[in-house]
Amino acid sequence: MLDIKFEKTTAPKQKPIDESKLGFGQIFSDHMFLMDYDNGEWHDPRIVPFQDLCYSPGTAVFHYGCEIFEGLKAYRTAAGNVQLFRPIDNVRRMNDSAERLCLPQMNEDDMLQAIIEFTKVEADWVPHSEGTSLYLRPFLLGIDETLGVHTIKKAQFIIIGSPSGSYYPEGINPVKIMIETEDVRAVRGGTGYAKCGGNYAASTRAGHKAELKGYSQVLWLDGVEQKYIEEVGAMNVMFKIDGVVVTPKLIGSILPGITRRSCIELLKDKGIPVEERRISAEELFDALRAGKLEEAWGTGTAAVVSPIGELSFNGEKYTINDFKIGETTQWLYDTLTGMQWGKIADNKGWIVPVK
Ligand SMILES: *Cc1c(COP(=O)(O)O)cnc(C)c1O
Repeated sequence: MLDIKFEKTTAPKQKPIDESKLGFGQIFSDHMFLMDYDNGEWHDPRIVPFQDLCYSPGTAVFHYGCEIFEGLKAYRTAAGNVQLFRPIDNVRRMNDSAERLCLPQMNEDDMLQAIIEFTKVEADWVPHSEGTSLYLRPFLLGIDETLGVHTIKKAQFIIIGSPSGSYYPEGINPVKIMIETEDVRAVRGGTGYAKCGGNYAASTRAGHKAELKGYSQVLWLDGVEQKYIEEVGAMNVMFKIDGVVVTPKLIGSILPGITRRSCIELLKDKGIPVEERRISAEELFDALRAGKLEEAWGTGTAAVVSPIGELSFNGEKYTINDFKIGETTQWLYDTLTGMQWGKIADNKGWIVPVK
């Protein structure tokens, strides 16, 4: 158990009145959680007023990208309670990411306690409107003050919260996705499975190029042969081909999404076959041309599921399911959001009540 010190803000901010204009990650709640690591141990867990952080320009994270993060949401139910969705999975993934980047890991119970305590303190910041949530961003950075490249000895674990708007204020609209054929995001043995800022930095160029062409995100191919489908920007990807849901297998280069895992479990419970395997772009487009690609969607905490209405590959455009959300995609969306916002019973043990 952590003994978390609490310094309450003396200058609470005005909470957003118009929840339809929240957007994502633009405003921050009143407090932040901090904990320091040095000499081989974590110490001084505390919740303090949200404030700027001050580091020497010689700090490791500025030079070598030793940073990892997580993303999860606190949801408000119709009864006014606040709850989290599978937070222990975020905790475990954070430790896996830390291991990959040689950042210090943390006791699972301690990290979970920090997330829950912080959410409790900020419970009033969880917005009330349909589809809104308090986005929680735990992150961990290496803060040794040296330009020497060494294993990190000093680190800081931080959690901030940002009230965020509905991802689909105008209803769920399918997105257009471009298959990236030049840049690659990750390779086996690299950091693809870790949630680290560096992966995002390396992905920006392709994302920017796609945006200029009117696509919302890129679909990555594997980094070795550039043949096999990996994932979309910040989402995992699933295809329904001839009644079977196919999703790329986790081989080290793909982020193991919690939404992905949840979708697979729900689909299997419902008796829909799921195959986690390699799938090439060629196989996908063969299925498309044969009329067997029934649905395609991305999965991630932000959007939950995001139907893909158009795929572009080497300049050719292909429409999926007449640019409409498919039946399975809609069912996954309704089931997951139903559990998250407490509209349907959680028979999986995924919901953690906070307040
Ligand atoms: C966070 C993330 C996902 C989605 O993971 P969830 O746990 O479902 O939110 C997918 N891909 C990348 C690259 C990510 O960073």
